[in-house]
Amino acid sequence: MRPFDYRRAESLETVADGGRIIAGGTNLLDLMKLQVETPDTLVDINRIPGLDRIEADGDGLRVGALVSNTDLAADRRIRAGYPVLARAILAGASGQIRNKATTGGNLLQRTRCPYFYDPAMACNKREPGAGCAAQGGAGRMLAVFGTSEACLAAHPSDMAVGLRVLDAKVELRGTDGATRQVALDDFYCLPGDRPDIESVLQPGEIITAVVLPAPVAGSVQSYRKVRDRASYAFALVSIAAVATMRDGRIADLSLAFGSVAPRPWVDASVTDALIGQTPDADLFRRAAETLTESAAPNPDTAYKLPLLRRTLQSVLHEVTGLSEAATGTDKAETFA
Ligand code: SF4
Repeated sequence: MRPFDYRRAESLETVADGGRIIAGGTNLLDLMKLQVETPDTLVDINRIPGLDRIEADGDGLRVGALVSNTDLAADRRIRAGYPVLARAILAGASGQIRNKATTGGNLLQRTRCPYFYDPAMACNKREPGAGCAAQGGAGRMLAVFGTSEACLAAHPSDMAVGLRVLDAKVELRGTDGATRQVALDDFYCLPGDRPDIESVLQPGEIITAVVLPAPVAGSVQSYRKVRDRASYAFALVSIAAVATMRDGRIADLSLAFGSVAPRPWVDASVTDALIGQTPDADLFRRAAETLTESAAPNPDTAYKLPLLRRTLQSVLHEVTGLSEAATGTDKAETFA
């Protein structure tokens, strides 16, 4: 690890004095040890007052950027009104990491593409214009939606997928003290020809909070994560779902897909095909086919498509109350 300076910011006003922000450090320290990140100065924001609170915000909640993943998942208001978020967080990492990882840091964690973590390999995300070693390389964890010639990497966060399905917004504070809110869907950038630019965060801007709208009354919520082992593993695919049923039909439905794209992935054509319909195994099968029509897998990631289709069908059965046993739908091998 290269030497660096360290200072503590005691207020938001002093954060912008320069340096790389550190909060939980659960990803940044790994990147520094590998010399993927080599900041001259770390600015520790953990002592800034007020950023570690979960507060009412109208009918919703405002979650401070320093709220730990553990505290967020355990909060009784989150568990009661936003269970998909609690389940997504608890599906991620390990208890020790969740104790340190923060809400803001979770959103800004970097991809786990193995070539990104190896400075000897070409990576456009690490060094724009250097090339992409993952093209033609090995990479079963890479994305199948939203990729570009320059980058195939997937966003690894579970929490972000739960936040996306809840229509959360990210609150940002600029160097002039002004704040703005950005819908999570607009927060992340697709790679295009600049995969090093991952979000709309501007130089000097800092995430101060995540804002949740009012809970969706009467909804059934689920987070399903499929992974290589039952804990402490990144998702191969994941699905967050919030469904509301009325008179035996799907009155409303929101779906977000994780570890398949550079950001939590949504596809309106899938939900449009399901909303207003009576739950039915064939309907779910067609919706799953629709989802993967726009995928662009490589030989290493092609397995994600049938996995995603099976998992989606299983999740739809779960949130709409349709029995899988009665319809004979194959149940995906999943670990919630
Ligand atoms: Fe880098 Fe993206 Fe290529 Fe991975 S897929 S090596 S992160 S440019």
